[in-house]
Amino acid sequence: MLIDTHAHINFSSFEKDREQVIQKCLDNNVWMINVGTNLKTSQEVVDIAQKYPQGVYASIGLHPINLDTGLVKIKFDKNEGKHLEQDFDFNQYKKLAGLPKVVAIGEIGLDYYWKPKTTGRKQRFFQKQKDLLLKQLELAKELSLPVIFHCRMAHKDLLEILKSQKGIKGVVHCFTGTWEQAQQYMDMGLYLGFNGIIFKLNLDEIIKKTPLERILIETDCPYLPPPEFKGQRNDPLKVKYIAQRIAEIKEIDLETVAKITAQNAKTLFNLK
Ligand SMILES: [Zn+2]
Repeated sequence: MLIDTHAHINFSSFEKDREQVIQKCLDNNVWMINVGTNLKTSQEVVDIAQKYPQGVYASIGLHPINLDTGLVKIKFDKNEGKHLEQDFDFNQYKKLAGLPKVVAIGEIGLDYYWKPKTTGRKQRFFQKQKDLLLKQLELAKELSLPVIFHCRMAHKDLLEILKSQKGIKGVVHCFTGTWEQAQQYMDMGLYLGFNGIIFKLNLDEIIKKTPLERILIETDCPYLPPPEFKGQRNDPLKVKYIAQRIAEIKEIDLETVAKITAQNAKTLFNLK
């Protein structure tokens, strides 16, 4: 069995064949967690998960890029659809998080890729993202749910926030930081999520040194297809290529990677 711990099967590129893709995954013993990025997509992933008795799960949250800070212009992804939120509606998200098949809060975190140019605006922008993250960490703690972290160009700040928190379980999805940062996350008990970015950036050393017991595999589909599928839509079945590459790097067999990473996902997200 393989578990894709980060998919966006709700996005529009799956509009025509979503059910077939999901069924093919389940027939091939590939489970998935679809990850929300705002209230609209969070509702979508919950609706999808509820159609299946087992193997399709949902994570809900407000991605930092979908927070309307009024300080920076964000480029929209057509696939995801435009939907900005002025603030984090704690009660709306809490309602969603309490529904069956919701296994995590995320993807939430910090994203400093698009940022204002002037220092004052930049500081306010960073602060708004941090405030948003803290509110969502409160929700995760209140409901004892693990967190799927998104972090781009902001590991220093994310680590600082996490050091002031207790009882947070979770995964740093699409990990691309340094080995020192990886160690700090693991010291806090967090997992590292690896996807197709490992074919683009050289993370071999980090993957080699990270114990398999701390690794989750993911696709981030429809994005980041493995090189064999360049230019095509990625999907959860292709999580196998991530497992294969990790097996190669670690010089172990694919079955072991599949087994341990699936166990990790089941443990962290309490998948049944
Ligand atoms: Zn994602």
